[in-house]
Amino acid sequence: MKPNPAYPEEIRGTDVSYARICQRRLWISLHSDVITDGTEHVYEGKFLSERKRKAGFSEVTLGRNRLDSVSISENETCVHEFKKGRHLLECDRIQVAHYINLLQRAGFHNVYGIVHLLGSRDVAKIFLDPETWVTLQETYRLIEEMKLKKIPALVRNKFCFSGCSLVEFCWGDI
Ligand code: SF4
Repeated sequence: MKPNPAYPEEIRGTDVSYARICQRRLWISLHSDVITDGTEHVYEGKFLSERKRKAGFSEVTLGRNRLDSVSISENETCVHEFKKGRHLLECDRIQVAHYINLLQRAGFHNVYGIVHLLGSRDVAKIFLDPETWVTLQETYRLIEEMKLKKIPALVRNKFCFSGCSLVEFCWGDI
């Protein structure tokens, strides 16, 4: 399938993640420079990333994306993401698939991802297999479409009260 859009480097990993969580969250991220993530969950992710970063790991900037932790060896490249929770979420899986795609486009070989889960010794390995590729392209398309749409209606989902930084904006003090 033809890549869509032409330059996925211009799409932020956070927006890829939002696209799998909530279209309203995605729309606000795409249309606002004012409302930004600042929740404890985001800080926790940054803290974990710094704490677990080891020698030999590098930061890589690709377009509008900064990959905090990439291990590069002669034979393979691995992007590491550090996430809250005990289980791999689909939004995190596709975000990492986006980073794998960007690294491949930049010429890195044998690229895969590892999601490190907080509170668990588990890690989840992510590969850009054909099925994941299709999901990633659908996600890119949704992001492009959302740039042209009006803000989506309010629909409650499981993330509203589990870490979304816009919960008060959407739902007030309930
Ligand atoms: S609070 Fe819920 S509806 Fe509002 S942006 Fe966040 S996830 Fe979406």
